[in-house]
Amino acid sequence: MPPEPSAGTTIQCPQCGGESPLPAGRELVRCPFCSATLFVDRSAVVSHYSLPTLLDRDEATAALRRWMAGNETVKGLDRESQVENIEPLTFPMWLFRAHTDAGKVVFVEPAAPTPIPQVADLEVPAGKLEPFHDPEASVRPIEPTIPLETAKGWVQQRGVHRVTETALVEVPFWHFRYKYDGRSYRALVEGSTGTVLAAVYPEKAESPYVLIAVLGLVLFGLEGLAISNPVLKLLAYAVTAIPLTLIAYWVARKV
Ligand SMILES: [Zn+2]
Repeated sequence: MPPEPSAGTTIQCPQCGGESPLPAGRELVRCPFCSATLFVDRSAVVSHYSLPTLLDRDEATAALRRWMAGNETVKGLDRESQVENIEPLTFPMWLFRAHTDAGKVVFVEPAAPTPIPQVADLEVPAGKLEPFHDPEASVRPIEPTIPLETAKGWVQQRGVHRVTETALVEVPFWHFRYKYDGRSYRALVEGSTGTVLAAVYPEKAESPYVLIAVLGLVLFGLEGLAISNPVLKLLAYAVTAIPLTLIAYWVARKV
């Protein structure tokens, strides 16, 4: 791995190819030729972008409530959970454009550790990328600490080898902490699209449905064995289906 660039080093702009000295301090590196914003990693100089924040606090909360009312989560989560804390932050992501058999694709990998690994599945709307700018003072910027080389390794593990472009993208998130049934959970709402990401959350219970299915199989099976007359058999099936449907309906309302 090449040594970390230090003051006095020249860097090459990935957008125009222009070489310029690396400015000291390097909070915001800008190419003097094409004014692209750049990020200097240990191994490379890449374009540096921000995604705009399009959802305010209330809109992000509404997006979280919609997700809570959806089908993945336990029934009533939207009404019975209490939001304890909302924090705006920007999260750094390595973005890779690559050629695969399926055509041109865009991948992202986290550039900082996160307890919510789903960020790697986030779809970054490439058309919305803006030159990097410092976030507002109320926003906590999370620093990129995962080297580009590490993230490149993950992309290669996904079977992608012909990376044509690499960039660092600062993605705005609203970080939520909420309480449900005595436990604390967290979720991220992406500030540009409203996508909700969560690793651990109160899930919809699956077991009652499995029980109904098993019960149905057993009952139908027994009836099939016990009744030989095909007309009576169909009649018995129909009569059994009614309570099963009612139970399933009741469970769907409840769970
Ligand atoms: Zn340039």
